[in-house]
Amino acid sequence: MHHDHNPLLVILSVLIAIFASYTSLDLANSLSVSKGRARAIWLIGGSMAMGVGIWSMHFIAMLAFSLPGIDIYYDVPLLFLSILVAIIASALALQIVSGKVPTTKAYVAGSLTMGAAIAGMHYIGIWSMRMAANIHWNMTLVFASITIAIVASFAALMIAFKLRNDLTVKGFLFRGAGGIVMGFAIAGMHYTAMAAMHFTRNKGFILSSQDVLATDGLAAAVIIGTILILGIALTGSNVERTLTKKNEGIRLRDEFLSIASHELKTPLTSVKLQTELLIRQFKKENVDKEKAEGMLKNSLSSLNRMIHLIDEMLDISRITSGRLVLDKSNSDMGELIHNVVETYRPHFEEKKNIITFERCKAMGIFDPHRVEQIVTNLISNAFKYGNDKPVVVKLKCDENFITLIVTDQGMGIPKQFQNKIFERFERVGEGKEISGLGLGLFIVKQLVDAHRGKIWVESEPGKGSSFFVKLPVS
Ligand code: ADP
Repeated sequence: MHHDHNPLLVILSVLIAIFASYTSLDLANSLSVSKGRARAIWLIGGSMAMGVGIWSMHFIAMLAFSLPGIDIYYDVPLLFLSILVAIIASALALQIVSGKVPTTKAYVAGSLTMGAAIAGMHYIGIWSMRMAANIHWNMTLVFASITIAIVASFAALMIAFKLRNDLTVKGFLFRGAGGIVMGFAIAGMHYTAMAAMHFTRNKGFILSSQDVLATDGLAAAVIIGTILILGIALTGSNVERTLTKKNEGIRLRDEFLSIASHELKTPLTSVKLQTELLIRQFKKENVDKEKAEGMLKNSLSSLNRMIHLIDEMLDISRITSGRLVLDKSNSDMGELIHNVVETYRPHFEEKKNIITFERCKAMGIFDPHRVEQIVTNLISNAFKYGNDKPVVVKLKCDENFITLIVTDQGMGIPKQFQNKIFERFERVGEGKEISGLGLGLFIVKQLVDAHRGKIWVESEPGKGSSFFVKLPVS
C-alpha cells in the first residue's frame, strides 16, 4: 500500500531535531561547569529537555506520515514509554560528555547504549501505532537505521565533548554546525527506519480509550510544547553560564586583592624595619657608614619593588579602560634590550648565574618605553622562575619582523596553562609558590597586541621555557 508524508511536518521535524541537538550541546557546556546540587538539577532538567526534543522530532515525523483512507491512532502509555527511553538515553549522553575526559571505551559504550536507546524509542513509537494495516519489515534497512543511530551518537558525543568549554564565538558557531549535523543524523535514522516499513490493509482493530488520533492539532501541540521546553532549557543554560562567569570573576578579584595587599605589605615591612635599624644606628656615637648604606640600599630595592607593583596596577586600569596609548618612534631594539640586560646582570651575578644577549641590527618603529617594559617583564620572570640557571636573550631580525626570545632552564609551564598565563591574575603550577601578582604577562600581551605583534611560549615542565615576542618592524 502506498504511504505519504506531509512535507511541512517533515521539514518541521528536521528543524526540531536541529534545535534539540543544539540545545543538548549547549546543556553539555553548562553541565560541565556546574557542580554539586546545581549539576544534579542540570542533569535531570537537561536530559528531560533533550529527551523530549529527540522524541518530539520522531513523533512529529510520525504525525507527518499517513496511509490513504486509514486513520492512525497511537497508544498513549506506549508513547510515554518511548519518551522515557529518550530521556534515559539523553541522561546517559549528558553524563558522559560532562564528566572527566572520556576514554575511547566510554565513547564506544556510550554510543552503543545511546544508539540502542534512540532506536528503541523509535521502534516503541512504531509499536504504539494503532491502524487498520499490517507492517512488513525490510530487515536490511532496520539494521541500517540502528547503525545510523549508533554512529550519529558517537559523532554527537565527540562533538559535544570537544565543544563543551568553548564559550567564544567560534565555539558558538561550531555548536551551531554540530547541532545541524546531529539534527540531520537523528532525522536520517528516523526516515531510514520509516523506509524499512511497508503496509498492507487489514480488517482493523478495536479502539481503546487509551488511543489518540493523529491529527494536525496534535502535531501543533507537540511542536509548541517542544519549542517551549527547549527554549526554557536554553535560556536557563545561558543564565547559569553568566552567573558562573560572574562568580569566577569575583573569586579572581578577591584572590587578587589578598595577593596584592600581601605583596605590597612585604616590601613596606622591610622598609619599616630598615628605617628602625637606621635610627638605632644613628643614635650610636660612631655611625657605621657601611652598614647604614647597606640598610638604605635594602630600603631602596624594597621601594623599587613597590613602585613596580603599583605601576603594574596602574597599567591594568589603563588597559581595561582603553587608555593605553603608544608613543612610537624610530628605535633601536638591540640597544633597549642591552640596557635592560645590563641592569639585570648584577642580580644574576649575585646568584652566581649568567645572562647572555645575542643581538642583531634591530631598528624599527616602536614605543621604546613599552618595549623596555616587555623585555623587563620577561627577563624578570626568567630570573624568578629560572631556578638560578643561565638565561639567554636573543634577537632575530628579518626584513619585516623582529623576534625576541627569552629562554630559561627553570621550572617550565605545563601545557594546559601555556595560554592561561597571559590572562589577568593568572598564576599557575609551581610558579604560584613565588611572589607575584599574575599581572606581568597580561600587561606584556596587551603591549604586544598594541604593537600588532604576537607572543607565545614554548615550554616543558622541569626543563625550562622560551617566550617569543614577534613585532612588525613598522
Ligand atoms: P607573576 O610573575 O607576577 O605571577 P606573570 O603574569 O608575569 O605574573 O606570570 C604569570 C604566571 O606564569 C606566573 O605566576 C608563573 O606561574 C608563570 N610563569 C611566567 N613566566 C614563567 C617562566 N619563565 N617559567 C615558569 N613559569 C612562568
